Amino acid sequence: MSTNAGSGRSRMYCRVIPLTKEQLSAPRRHLYCHIEPLPEDQLVEAACNAIKINPKNAPSAHSQDLAMTKEIALLTDTKWSTPVRLTIRFVDDPKPSRELRDRILGHFNAWGDHGDITFHEVESGATVRITVLNKDGYWIKGLGTQLNLTDPALPNMGLQDITDATSDGELCRVVRHEAGHALGFGHEHSRAAVVDLIEERRAINFFAATPNGWSEETTRFNFLTAVPESRFQASGGVDYASIMCSDVPKTVMKNHASEDAADIPGGSDFSATDKMIISATYPRQQ
Ligand SMILES: [Zn+2]
Repeated sequence: MSTNAGSGRSRMYCRVIPLTKEQLSAPRRHLYCHIEPLPEDQLVEAACNAIKINPKNAPSAHSQDLAMTKEIALLTDTKWSTPVRLTIRFVDDPKPSRELRDRILGHFNAWGDHGDITFHEVESGATVRITVLNKDGYWIKGLGTQLNLTDPALPNMGLQDITDATSDGELCRVVRHEAGHALGFGHEHSRAAVVDLIEERRAINFFAATPNGWSEETTRFNFLTAVPESRFQASGGVDYASIMCSDVPKTVMKNHASEDAADIPGGSDFSATDKMIISATYPRQQ
């Protein structure tokens, strides 16, 4: 009988290679959401449609007697009327599994815990048309009532790489955020107080890189253009915990080299302010 005991045989050992300083301070690389705006020549029609659906969408400067202009259209809100009853269709062939569709629908309908909102799945038509097979990241075309003007033959929401293996936490963060867009809520990080912190060139380079691959135009619209304060439901500063607030890495900020530089973590579920805004915007009838 032979044995190797005591033979001094050499073996492979595992060793931990520490991250470099650069790796430790590198920004998180993940997919970000982007809103794809309607074409400019649809903005006036979309604003008229929004006011027809919900007169509260009209900006305070606009009266019924005033002709709609592009300038007024940009100030016009995109909220549905209450109660909100919207349809969803999964456009991919094959569709995501029944279980995954139910998980996605569950996060859409989580908005209904705080307001009079229900989404249900249909097999044709639909206001919200979702693809998970696209390679454009997380996106929506238009906001709220603007979805009515998107091409019914095409998806208007992308949830790239959402699969059965996606964790509940990630699904919550991504799907509740996109559902907020479908309900007419924009990005909390588009408030001037956040946009003013961002350095244009650094942001354009960051979002152009993998995995997002955004054009300069997409970055300008989503991270470098402040939305008028009147479009936000809550005054009193940025709600960094809002589900509608994306994380913003310090590497794209003007003060990125300063000791004070810090990432904006962004929201991963409804904040206390979100819940108040949902119930005020889409109240349940008593
Ligand atoms: Zn978004």
